[in-house]
Amino acid sequence: MIGIVVVSHSRALARAAVALAEQMLQDQQVRMVIAAGLDEETFGTDAMQIHDALVEADQDGDGVVVLMDLGSAVLSAELALELLADDAARARVLLCPAPLVEGLVVAAVTALSGADGPKVAAEAVASLAGKQSQLATPAEASPESTFPPAETRPADVNAGRFRVTPVHGLHARPAARLVQVLQSLDARVELRNLSTGSGWVPGASLSRLATLGALPDHEVEVRASGPQAPQALEQVLALAQRNFDDPPSADQPQPDADTSSDLLSERVRGPFPASPGIGFGPARPAPGLIRPAPGSTRPELELARPELELARPEPGKIAAPSEKSEIVEDPAEGRRRLDAAVDAVRAQVQEIRQRVAHEVNEAEAAIFDTHLALLADPELLEAARSRIAVGQAASSAWANAVSVAAAGYESLTDPYLQARSADVRALGNQVSRHLLGAYDRSEELGERSGVLIAADLTPAEAATLNPARVTAVVLAFGSPTAHSAILIRARGIPAVVGAGAAVLEIADGTPLAVDGTTGELVIEPAEAVAAELRERAAAAQARNRQALTRADAPATTRDGVRILVGANISSIEDARDATASGADLIGLVRTEFLFLGRSQAPDIAEQESIYRALAETAAGRRITFRTLDVGGDKPLAYLPQRVEANPFLGVRGVRFALQQPELLADQLLAMVRVAHDLPISVMFPMVSTLDELIRARRSLDEAIKLTGRGTPSEFQIGIMVEVPAAALKAATFARHVDFLSIGTNDLTQYTLAAERGNDAVEPLADPFDPAVLRLIEITCRGAGPNVTVAVCGELAADERATEVLIGLGVRELSVTPHAIPAVKQAVRALALPDASTLAARTLVAPSADAVRSLLRPLAESPPNAPS
Ligand code: PEP
Ligand code: MG
Repeated sequence: MIGIVVVSHSRALARAAVALAEQMLQDQQVRMVIAAGLDEETFGTDAMQIHDALVEADQDGDGVVVLMDLGSAVLSAELALELLADDAARARVLLCPAPLVEGLVVAAVTALSGADGPKVAAEAVASLAGKQSQLATPAEASPESTFPPAETRPADVNAGRFRVTPVHGLHARPAARLVQVLQSLDARVELRNLSTGSGWVPGASLSRLATLGALPDHEVEVRASGPQAPQALEQVLALAQRNFDDPPSADQPQPDADTSSDLLSERVRGPFPASPGIGFGPARPAPGLIRPAPGSTRPELELARPELELARPEPGKIAAPSEKSEIVEDPAEGRRRLDAAVDAVRAQVQEIRQRVAHEVNEAEAAIFDTHLALLADPELLEAARSRIAVGQAASSAWANAVSVAAAGYESLTDPYLQARSADVRALGNQVSRHLLGAYDRSEELGERSGVLIAADLTPAEAATLNPARVTAVVLAFGSPTAHSAILIRARGIPAVVGAGAAVLEIADGTPLAVDGTTGELVIEPAEAVAAELRERAAAAQARNRQALTRADAPATTRDGVRILVGANISSIEDARDATASGADLIGLVRTEFLFLGRSQAPDIAEQESIYRALAETAAGRRITFRTLDVGGDKPLAYLPQRVEANPFLGVRGVRFALQQPELLADQLLAMVRVAHDLPISVMFPMVSTLDELIRARRSLDEAIKLTGRGTPSEFQIGIMVEVPAAALKAATFARHVDFLSIGTNDLTQYTLAAERGNDAVEPLADPFDPAVLRLIEITCRGAGPNVTVAVCGELAADERATEVLIGLGVRELSVTPHAIPAVKQAVRALALPDASTLAARTLVAPSADAVRSLLRPLAESPPNAPS
């Protein structure tokens, strides 16, 4: 088949044109090779690049048609032609004067038919005919086709009619389909638009079909002659009946689609993938699970009330002693019992905190500091003790004090502080259980092997799940970014969340299959489905094993481009995991772990020693410290902030740091001191204006001056691209930094206006949304050739996203340490030209789901992928 070379001054333009042409090919392949731009960003054409493209496009020796854009593109193409090794190769190349976009679409469709170079080029040249006839005055429009000449038409033509049904008429894609159908038939087919009175045009010519101006509901006549005329007519009419295989558009009524809002909302809500892997087993509803009352949607609100949680009717278990009989109690005994219960819970929380710090990271462990602080809250304890002093039973006194404290939080206007009432109630429950010697479900959660089903889990419950027994977790509510989901991931248990209240009705023992990578929950899977899932699980295991054996090797694409894969860390343990998992660098240190959960900020010396320890653990790898990213939704207890109605749109990240200049200055000084000895970089979070970057840099320059020494050349400065404003102004920022690191977690929430962690808008906060991908592409383009673009948000850890990200221009990925081996494998499986084409297609996709459907399945490696 003939190959096509696209020569353009702009790489982005060429990619988009190829993506458009591919849309017409209905999953069939034509070799289209791009020779465009001097690099991702710089406009220009390069004869050597075109020469290479000609060689690649002519691999089969069938010839090449070259389409070019403006002026020097033609000169460069002519030069490239001269550079070809021999006359025979030159003779197979046709420089085609067709317009680039229309010409490419028509050429691609014609090439698919197996047409030779001159035919493809001729069709491409005629590609403006549709536009010309549509915009021409009636007098200018050609009344009749000359194909075949009227006098040679056989008398015995087969004829028929159809009505145009595609919602945009017989536009390029349906027309391309028609051309494809006719290609394999030995017949001459012509069409004319009876509704407009157009002339006859050949059905095999995409460019001429466009001149029919066939709109929805127009009537079109078809006639066919030649040996296979009857089949040709039959196939054209059948195709017309099938809506030309055009997918129905969103605004076109779909006969079988159920548009009832209930079903629609079921479809768009979860389950959401929350922890990768596949798990099977009998359903194990969480102990203490209270079914939602009719009309109620959130049973876990009920669970926060101790008397309901205690009412667990499981046979053979400790029954909750009745609190009603315990109305009065000796004050001394009551106080002793309360103190003992609080101490016991404190010990439990401390143990869980330690475990989470070790297994997940310090930042996640810090959430338990809030619980410890509540247990030490003098007002809360005093409120309970004063009730005990007047004879109230310890458990009632405590429950009352907790209720008052929780209600206090609930009455606040700030949503973040309001949400803290759940912490107060959950912790109150824990102490109450001790006081009552009552059943604690966390000890029993996951005691029985199988798939755990719960409304939601507290972080403490999630942190204690045993992966040896719990084969998967299904939560009716919750979100993949909630603390409990992070902790389930850390335990390596597959999970789906937001599965809806209906899952709470699944009976104990029902066979279930859960794919936490894709978000599938299958109830009573048929043997074939179970077998397919088992196969998927085995393939994933095999992939993981293979990835692990190559974790330390560099990640290089099939066409030889090195991509650095680094780690996101927030503790020394993470840094150790990173080096053990084959990290090329540390792409993100979330320094807030040092600042949260304590009563005052760490001083310069403490910071320096921790940064130094982290950099030493990284053992010579570049390590990027992000300055403090707190404020708004992550307040520091020792730096009270004004309460904000929308903390995510408030004073956080670099905005907070610039309002606390001393805090920022201390942090930068500690980093610069380490930079004298170890290869570190610094980046600023949540930057949205150049002014913010300039002010932060000024603070950094002062820190450098204070040390009295310059910084080594390895010391690089960058910003996080987390808000659309930063992405759109990437070219501006690029003049002031060494690198840009895209934080897709925040970029997604700000692009889609869907708060991360809010399960009600979870389906919207999809990083595969084409809008997010476009912002990544704009960032890469804006960065230019000298500024590296990295991605350090969660999307970078998704192997399915690797090819798209690299295709968009990203050259560095930073992920949670355990994801490094798999992401490196994904890099090794791709080649840049394919990745670029895929990326271009995702940018024009209509939705995140459509983007996903374009991605290569994980199990599938392209041919020649190194193992
Ligand atoms: C991000 O926003 O993608 C990011 C990496 O930062 P964080 O998750 O720490 O906000
Ligand atoms: Mg962020």
